[in-house]
Amino acid sequence: MNETKLASFRAKLEESRFALIGGVQEKYKSKKDDFNEQVADIADDAVQSYDRQLMMGLGEKELRKLKLVEEAIKKINTGQYGKCLECEELIPEVRLTVIPYTPYCVDCLETIEKKIP
Ligand SMILES: [Zn+2]
Repeated sequence: MNETKLASFRAKLEESRFALIGGVQEKYKSKKDDFNEQVADIADDAVQSYDRQLMMGLGEKELRKLKLVEEAIKKINTGQYGKCLECEELIPEVRLTVIPYTPYCVDCLETIEKKIP
């Protein structure tokens, strides 16, 4: 994949990341007191407060998406972007255009989804 395309995928990914994280920050700005109370209820001190904020503000689905987005950005940085995690074939750009954070090609994704009961 050439630099221009990579750069445009990176921009898209960073936009999604910002939208996911920014939404949470926006949500808690207005009810900060509520948020601090909720944080106090959580026993697990190992988790960074930033992560807590994200976990509480994001649904499971969004959290999973955020992780995929961050992994995809990491892969752009290491030059691994666009490669299927499962079969290591290149994921078609058309697919990446639709879902830039996808870690799998369509074939592998179907196989994986079939395995989930
Ligand atoms: Zn694959």
